[in-house]
Amino acid sequence: MMMQEYINQAEQDLLHTYNRYPVVFDHGDGVHLYDIEGKEYLDFVSGIAVFALGYNNKAYNDALKEQIDKLLHTSNYYYNVPAIEAARKLKKVSGMDRVFFTNSGAEALEGMIKTARKYAFTKDGTTDHEIIAMEHSFHGRTMGALSVTGNPAYRAPFEPMIGNVKFAQLNDFDSVLAQVTDKTCAILFETVQGEGGIYPATEEFMQKVRALCDEKDILLMLDEVQCGMGRCGEMFAWQRYGIKPDVMASAKALGCGVPVGAFMMTEKVGQASLVPGDHGTTYGGNPFACAAISKVLDLFEEQNITEHVKEVGAYLSEQLDVLTEKYDFVETHRGVGLLQGLVCNKPVGDMIKTALSEGLVLINAGANIIRFVPPLVITKQDVDKMIEILDRCLAAHC
Ligand SMILES: *Cc1c(COP(=O)(O)O)cnc(C)c1O
Repeated sequence: MMMQEYINQAEQDLLHTYNRYPVVFDHGDGVHLYDIEGKEYLDFVSGIAVFALGYNNKAYNDALKEQIDKLLHTSNYYYNVPAIEAARKLKKVSGMDRVFFTNSGAEALEGMIKTARKYAFTKDGTTDHEIIAMEHSFHGRTMGALSVTGNPAYRAPFEPMIGNVKFAQLNDFDSVLAQVTDKTCAILFETVQGEGGIYPATEEFMQKVRALCDEKDILLMLDEVQCGMGRCGEMFAWQRYGIKPDVMASAKALGCGVPVGAFMMTEKVGQASLVPGDHGTTYGGNPFACAAISKVLDLFEEQNITEHVKEVGAYLSEQLDVLTEKYDFVETHRGVGLLQGLVCNKPVGDMIKTALSEGLVLINAGANIIRFVPPLVITKQDVDKMIEILDRCLAAHC
């Protein structure tokens, strides 16, 4: 079948919840994707910040194949070696003490929300505790994760949300203070807001929220699903601030393509929150998923990914400077490491479509921002190539 026939078929069979780009990908290699007609694309999306190690990584693929032949799944009623190893490695790189494996980012957020409520309940025996989340945040599409997502359009048709969620502004500490009551159990935000427009938390905001949480025994919960796993030049983006959250979520690049997530916490929270019977998952932490996590963490360390990201991220930033200077409709660019955005004063959808036809895969963040979330193994030459194509696409849409 040709590409258009597959697309027509998909549009008849799949629930129409996405306006997909008109391409059917077949395979990938390194930082390139290939469609079913053989055309090559330079990929600056990596499956939305997932394929950090690039496509068709042999060491990663071999580890998965080996695990498939051994054992895929047993459930959480039993121990398995890949989960034990993955948890130990994840604790080492995060400095957290307790790990719960999930199947997705949203599910990790669900676990964090339950952790916060249970921690507060354990303390005072009451319910109706409140969580403060941020405007323009994105935490996932399940009901709990949606309830803390600061995008009214995503929430509106699905009201009522879970209750007792209040919203403040990222980087406006007073707006957080204004929402704090003696019922506040957690303050939740993305260390760098992804979908909402690539806004990093400021150093000052982070320090003040941390101090407030310490003072009032409120849990600081950071969503590192997109900005974590090396993308911002540290294993987790909060490590740039010299603070530590009480609870955190990871997913996306954690499995580099195998659907996994995790929420993690300090020993103090672990000892006073979820206990047997409170939470569970059938698939979460299965041997196959954990073999992926384990290998990903090994390869990150072997390849010194975080140092590479710092270097190439800085280079990407410099190159985006050039485009920002060159085009009037480009207002600015911002971001950290290999989570960057080019902010335009008009919708970028058509520019992204042009880029795709030119063999460059890009994605937006909101209507007006082109987002760059490439595989973390991209090189400066790949950045040059991307900028060259993007430059042409921007010129075509002046
Ligand atoms: C993608 C994302 C999620 C949701 O993850 P899913 O795996 O899609 O459920 C949550 N938080 C952030 C910051 C994300 O970028």
